Amino acid sequence: MSYRKLVLLLLAWVCGLPSPAQTAPPLLLTHALVVNPRTQQVQRRCLLVREGRVQRVARRPPAGYHGQRLSLAGCYLVPTLSDLHVHALGNYGPNDYLDGLTPAQVARHQLYCGVGHVLDLFNDEARILAWRDQQRPGLAGGAVVYCAGPALTCTGGHGTEYPGLATRLVNTPAEARAQVTALAARRPDVVKVVYDHAVPTVPTMSRATMVACLATARSLGIPTVVHVGTWADVAEALQAGATAITHVPLAPLPPAVAELFAQSGAYFIPALTAQLDFADLATDMAQDSTVRALTSPGLRQAYRDTARYDRSTRWLLRWQRGQRATVLRNVQLLSERGVPIVAGTDAGNSGTLHGYSLHRELALLRLAGLSAWQVLAASSTCAGQLLHQHWGVEVGDEASFLVLRQSPLTNPAALLHFRLLVQQGYVHERASLQPGRP
Ligand SMILES: [Zn+2]
Repeated sequence: MSYRKLVLLLLAWVCGLPSPAQTAPPLLLTHALVVNPRTQQVQRRCLLVREGRVQRVARRPPAGYHGQRLSLAGCYLVPTLSDLHVHALGNYGPNDYLDGLTPAQVARHQLYCGVGHVLDLFNDEARILAWRDQQRPGLAGGAVVYCAGPALTCTGGHGTEYPGLATRLVNTPAEARAQVTALAARRPDVVKVVYDHAVPTVPTMSRATMVACLATARSLGIPTVVHVGTWADVAEALQAGATAITHVPLAPLPPAVAELFAQSGAYFIPALTAQLDFADLATDMAQDSTVRALTSPGLRQAYRDTARYDRSTRWLLRWQRGQRATVLRNVQLLSERGVPIVAGTDAGNSGTLHGYSLHRELALLRLAGLSAWQVLAASSTCAGQLLHQHWGVEVGDEASFLVLRQSPLTNPAALLHFRLLVQQGYVHERASLQPGRP
């Protein structure tokens, strides 16, 4: 059977969306150049997929297998990408322009860009948890969404400034214990805590309250992600046992904090895109075909019309320019110390686009000195570890892959313009994943 016929057959077979709790039939992917971010090796291998997971990896097809096959000779196979810092609310742009999106639409935008897993780190609690629960047994046509639900913060703290978006307030250690315990009943994938002394006029929870949030979450077995503003915030969150830190403080990294971070085993989600990428995204608005597919004409116009940027947009641009060198250097130093770096974009903020910006984040991580292998791990295997998930290309890993025409190690653009996407054993062509325009 020709490759084209086989692909058509496979596409017919996966046509439409898998219904909940349905698992894909067995699938043999043959002769792919398998790119393994864990071992940093590229090897020609055959992968047997059953029930959405890799069951066997071998040099040759297994004898006696008679199920579906897909020849990937000449193609590279990598894990799908992941973005562990998003807000599935829509795409904000200059002058508060918003392409509003539901969590389901965000998930579709992400998958179209090769992002198979996202972690929402603050959203409407009921809405995002309901979507996560509805999606979890099946795939519902988008990236698999993990979520925090609310961001735990103090009265008047960061996270309380968004009209129409309520969150859980914690002002004392007792409230922290009560709120984390109540939230745990809804099974969040992580607990998100805001501990941020960067802006003196914006209050933040006390250190004792932050410690109680993290201790309670830990006792309940839930990973924690702490939004920070200063290096002192980072140090205190690490001492309290944070699983991950997100955002890059703007001051140069103190050596003692670098040491503490490296010793702690905690993950770092810099989210460089939200801190650095507005100007470059504005340029892409005019040129990139993927950006055009994911945005409304109004949003693109808002980015392009630089003369009409309002005060807060102009402030954002100046803020980003001023911090660029130090922020990249801080990430480089932590990476060199062996701190596990995880890709996240903070998509949902101005200067980012769901899905597309993950590729910008990978480029920024390269600028910060990470190797091509480290960048791939940051958006697949390493990210999976943070959430206790098996994302990769080895036996037992979730069978979610991108099939590429070129090596992602030498041509990262191949990751965005993938040939096929396999999600838990279901095969999709990129064009079939294109979402409707906002
Ligand atoms: Zn965020």
